Amino acid sequence: MSTAHRSGHSQPNPWAAVDVGPSLPMPVFTSTESWNPERIGALALYCSDGRWGEAFDEFCQRRLLIPRYDRWAVPGGPAWLLPRGKGRDLSETTQEQLDLLVRVHELERIVLISHYGCAFYAKLFGQDADGCLPIQLQEMRDGIAILRRWFPELTVEAYLAMRRGNNLTFHALSE
Ligand SMILES: [Zn+2]
Repeated sequence: MSTAHRSGHSQPNPWAAVDVGPSLPMPVFTSTESWNPERIGALALYCSDGRWGEAFDEFCQRRLLIPRYDRWAVPGGPAWLLPRGKGRDLSETTQEQLDLLVRVHELERIVLISHYGCAFYAKLFGQDADGCLPIQLQEMRDGIAILRRWFPELTVEAYLAMRRGNNLTFHALSE
């Protein structure tokens, strides 16, 4: 990039007045989204599998009506709530991080989403997608109980994201 382009004072530039500080390079992209400082008070814990990401987002925004919700995407999603009793306990880490978010991000609602065919469960339990399903459903029920014990004042709900062919559906967990 030329020096002339970088300084750019001779051309009309809508960002000329934006001071990004002396240490930042020129932006490579500007979001069409505007900053909204209001928190929605909801967090969704779901699997990081990118093939499901858009559907999770759509479900949370259009069905659960939680725009700008906190997204916690990790392999297995709600699987991180359960103590496994071996190695570094993900459950402890999860509790620590949620504890912070409940206070700092003023969370009032936590949404758990587990998806069909999750590789995290397949590896952990050595089962195929259908074989893992009852385990995932039971673990989400256990996850709800754990969350209610950690944060009695919070609303907790859980959903299974199902796939048949290309069709993706969401199912509320009955308790
Ligand atoms: Zn997954």
